[in-house]
Amino acid sequence: MAADLLVRNVRPLGGELTDILILAGRIAPGPAPAGVLVLDGSGRIALPGLVEAHTHLDKSLLGLSWYRNAVGPRLIDRIDNERAVRKTLPIDPRQQSERHARLAVSHGSTFIRSHVDVDTDCGVAGIAGVMATREALADVVAIDIVAFPQSGLLVRPGTVELLEQALRLGAETVGGLDPCAIDRDPKGHLDTVFGLADRFGRGVDIHLHEPGEMGAFSMELIIERTRALGMQGKVIVSHAFCLGMPDAAVVDPLIAALAEARIAIMTTATASRPVPPLMRLARAGVAVCAGSDGIRDTWGPYGNADMLERAMFVGQRYNLRRDDELAAALDVVTTGGARALGLDGYGLAPGCGGDLVLVEAETVAEAVAQRPGRRTVVKRGSVVARDGIGEV
Ligand SMILES: [Zn+2]
Repeated sequence: MAADLLVRNVRPLGGELTDILILAGRIAPGPAPAGVLVLDGSGRIALPGLVEAHTHLDKSLLGLSWYRNAVGPRLIDRIDNERAVRKTLPIDPRQQSERHARLAVSHGSTFIRSHVDVDTDCGVAGIAGVMATREALADVVAIDIVAFPQSGLLVRPGTVELLEQALRLGAETVGGLDPCAIDRDPKGHLDTVFGLADRFGRGVDIHLHEPGEMGAFSMELIIERTRALGMQGKVIVSHAFCLGMPDAAVVDPLIAALAEARIAIMTTATASRPVPPLMRLARAGVAVCAGSDGIRDTWGPYGNADMLERAMFVGQRYNLRRDDELAAALDVVTTGGARALGLDGYGLAPGCGGDLVLVEAETVAEAVAQRPGRRTVVKRGSVVARDGIGEV
């Protein structure tokens, strides 16, 4: 619900002390009308609402018993394990997605893109569960759903039809996964994914874990299809580990082509794999966003849905130390996410949507490096978390 709010005594992005007025859910120039609700920021930094650009709301184990992970090391081990274990654990996508989304909001995320599993075992139950949460939390956080063929697309007949069903139900974006390594049919996989996106008028967001030359090959096919279908600005490649290979002769032309096709890159800044070269991508004009990926699920025990902490991981993984570099890390979880996801009216200027998070820090660099707790979060002019605790 769009609301009016006067946020007093805050420092936008660590700047001078000022007030931010929100009228009907949008940031407005002053003066504030009489009687408007006031939130005292007490000198805290105001950041635009954080953007969680890649997570999996449907399958977190938050609030459930600790899962003893004894899963094999390969991607396919984790995929197969999850499908098997899901039948034995009480993972209700509706309940889990609300727990997960509320945790993200308490840390300052006001926008979440969630990939949601669609496969021949669970069908579109996950999509329905996350859609119900999206509706229940409509005043708290915006959620965008990717119909995600986690177990493969063409290798599991029936999945394409389920993706179509998910898109008809209300998923916004078509997902994909390792066209060579999982589906073993890169042309078939990507023609299907982009075909669906073209037919339904949707964007594409592909998990591309494939390393080195294999990943580069898949990425070339993604770029070709983005151009051919005029989908510039509507495609994200998530992970893109192949861009982390050292061979500049392969990587540099790919980066130039990504910039030209306006394809965004999502990174978790993982410590355990090669990562796309953040600063080179930024210099080339490629939008880079970040995500938590899975939070405490059968894939891994980590994660807390805090995008400010993710910015710190970005800083650590990319060896960012200077204050201007830490500001670039913050960009990845704010403006980079907004650009990658095509969010309209993002930011703290008049006319922008009234989403912000108040953080107790002296500078943006301190906010990223120390990720202070007890944040207050505003969504479209309504306080949705106060001092780190959800209100709605
Ligand atoms: Zn993922």
